Amino acid sequence: MLTGTHYPVVVVGGGQAGLSVSYCLRRRGIAHVVLEANRVGHEWRTRRWDSFCLVTPNWQCRLPGFAYRGPDPDGFMVRDEIVRYLEDYVSFFQPPLVEGVRVERLRRSATGLFELSTSAGAVTADQVVVATGPYHSPSVPRMAERLCGDLVQPHSCQYRSPDQLPDGAVLVVGTGQSGCQIAEDLHLAGRQVHLAVGGAPRVARFYRGRDCVAWLDAMGHYGKGVDEFPDVDAVRMRVNHYVTGRDGGRDIDLRAFAKDGMRLYGRLAAVHGSTLEFGGDLAANLDHADAVAEGIKDSIDAYIAERGIDAPVEPRYVPVWEPDADHPRTVDVRAAGITSVVWSTGFARDHRWIEVPVFDGRGYPMHWRGVTNCPGLYFLGLPWQYSWGSGRFEAVGRDAEFLADHIDASRRLADVCGALTGAPTTLAAALPVG
Ligand SMILES: Cc1cc2nc3c(=O)[nH]c(=O)nc-3n(C[C@H](O)[C@H](O)[C@H](O)COP(=O)(O)OP(=O)(O)OC[C@H]3O[C@@H](n4cnc5c(N)ncnc54)[C@H](O)[C@@H]3O)c2cc1C
Repeated sequence: MLTGTHYPVVVVGGGQAGLSVSYCLRRRGIAHVVLEANRVGHEWRTRRWDSFCLVTPNWQCRLPGFAYRGPDPDGFMVRDEIVRYLEDYVSFFQPPLVEGVRVERLRRSATGLFELSTSAGAVTADQVVVATGPYHSPSVPRMAERLCGDLVQPHSCQYRSPDQLPDGAVLVVGTGQSGCQIAEDLHLAGRQVHLAVGGAPRVARFYRGRDCVAWLDAMGHYGKGVDEFPDVDAVRMRVNHYVTGRDGGRDIDLRAFAKDGMRLYGRLAAVHGSTLEFGGDLAANLDHADAVAEGIKDSIDAYIAERGIDAPVEPRYVPVWEPDADHPRTVDVRAAGITSVVWSTGFARDHRWIEVPVFDGRGYPMHWRGVTNCPGLYFLGLPWQYSWGSGRFEAVGRDAEFLADHIDASRRLADVCGALTGAPTTLAAALPVG
């Protein structure tokens, strides 16, 4: 039991974000503990499908002090390799990690001390970093409840493989990264897939001799902070571009899937008995995804031209399939032989266990680069916390360094104030830092 223990810093969550900040705190000599509800790598281990692999190239895995050193920097680690990468990180610097301990409530006392109720007893801390990940509860639209009761309906985080689903056709709802990759997984396994296509953009995997991610990196795209965009909120709400790292990486072209027998529709709009009704936005959604992918190529072309880079010329994408004007807007589940639905409809945040008033009307923590207006309380690993890679392997380390500096400054300030006034240094968190 941890009951009664006081820590200068508690890090909540032992995923890549929690481990990154732990490494940075260790380097600054700051005592802390990492409390992880499950095991390191839990999210990757338990909430990804069997054929899962990274969409981002391995060279972007830049955990502090432990950048990817494997044999395939341009490749895409599969699920078990990602888990091993995190486990190896733990072996590398041996963080003060306690697994199997969930923080159930976080409060701040009148003196500025943080009080954490955990599954292993109550502890206190001067400062707290919340690194519990960006994706908490699976979001499934309530219309799912109206579907025929005998349909199997996993969320994308519960989907494992085609074999897990009963024989028959599968409806995949949503075309973010997960939905597209799961639809492809099922399609490659020979399943009849019906896909409700949303408005997510896409990006080509390779263009003019390089991975588009490598071009965008060279172009400084990933170094841009949210403050360089006119609308921070809009940037943070952006949906990821779909593409895959499977088999060395390739495009995901939904039109090509359709040509090959996958049934595409617009957004799932309603359920009436066994009839599914889709929006009329299929053509627009496909066009939008292509336009974004081609726009990215335009910016790569401009960069190449500007710098006079010697790169092979590549023909542009030509759509290989178009929906007809009378493309079906309804499907009867029974007639189509659909026996399961994979809801690839994202996740909701759940920070209800944090009883500190730092959230906006949507439950999003208000912060600047992870620093909240409650002195001593920080977030790490939020999508676009500061840049594109904040919620990914690419830049979580940079954000962790920033927070560790802040935590260090806060601690030093408290020490100075304590020495001058005789106040206990545990008041650190009550002191403004800046
Ligand atoms: C389908 C999918 C594909 C992705 N693909 C990529 C990719 O290709 N490249 C990339 O860079 N990123 C990718 N990401 C994004 C990101 O890298 C992952 O979401 C990653 O898991 C985030 O790491 P994290 O440490 O911030 O959070 P998590 O990995 O979610 O870790 C949080 C940890 O906190 C623990 N925890 C939660 N609540 C508590 C609590 N109250 N007390 C104690 N512990 C708690 C959890 O058990 C968990 O282990 C993907 C995400 C998803 C969902």
